[in-house]
Amino acid sequence: MTTTYGPLTSTYGTLHGKVALVTGGSRGIGAATALRLAREGADVAVTYVNGKEAAEEVVRAVEALGRRAVALRADSADADEAAGAVARAAEAFGGLDVLVNNAGVGVLGPLEGLSLTDVDRVLAVNVRGVFLASQAAAARMTSGGRIITIGSCMAQRVPGPGGTLYATSKSALIGLTKALARELGPRGITANVVHPGPVDTDMNPAGGPYAAGQAAMTALGRFGTADEVAATVVYLAGADYVTGAEFSVDGGHSA
Ligand code: NDP
Repeated sequence: MTTTYGPLTSTYGTLHGKVALVTGGSRGIGAATALRLAREGADVAVTYVNGKEAAEEVVRAVEALGRRAVALRADSADADEAAGAVARAAEAFGGLDVLVNNAGVGVLGPLEGLSLTDVDRVLAVNVRGVFLASQAAAARMTSGGRIITIGSCMAQRVPGPGGTLYATSKSALIGLTKALARELGPRGITANVVHPGPVDTDMNPAGGPYAAGQAAMTALGRFGTADEVAATVVYLAGADYVTGAEFSVDGGHSA
């Protein structure tokens, strides 16, 4: 029997015709995800706060792949902007199929040193902004919608002191994801959370002072790349029968 395969390169990827919004898409994991989504055929909106030029570079890279792209300034810590970005992306491209809740901030340090401002800021960006964007996206998505949230290996395993605030915020995303899966499942919309391990970005450079210790905590003994996380996000964007699940992309940090 002869099996016939299609062309190795295709104009139509698995996400052809889909519209995606990636929060915090100007650099790091968000930028890598935006590019991977575009390579699979999606039009992509990215949000940013300070990195206007970096976000515009991502837009140009997506457009070079033949897809539509837009950069939206939207602070996830601001309730109106977090929900508004979803509306703006949907208006720009005529709907929304994939939301990637990626924007996040990390404040690590001893419990006694964390201020109320730190607590409010981290919870506003990492939890409230994700909640509001997911709520706004769910109101617009139809069957086939995908909500993919970037958690953290620190939601699964806290390997040392200093992680109270960050781990609190990222653990909340597990409950949110499971509850979204239950609530939106009947409408054919899925929700999943991806937990990166140490990934080489501005937030956590592989050459940073704590990098060697983090790499040693993984089974693979190294940092991951933003693209390695993006690959799992893109898989989930195209997966029909996966919801309410946690995916560790952490080199075995949680093993
Ligand atoms: P980076 O710091 O490299 O990039 C953060 C991105 O988020 C930037 O695009 C930034 O935009 C944007 N951003 C920051 N604050 C806000 C905000 N208030 N509103 C909207 N956008 C914002 O981070 P990473 O790529 O490393 O992290 C991405 C996600 O992965 C985060 O949720 C993080 O917690 C998580 N993660 C990262 C790990 C790592 O080791 N790197 C490990 C585990 C989880 P701008 O440039 O405009 O500031």
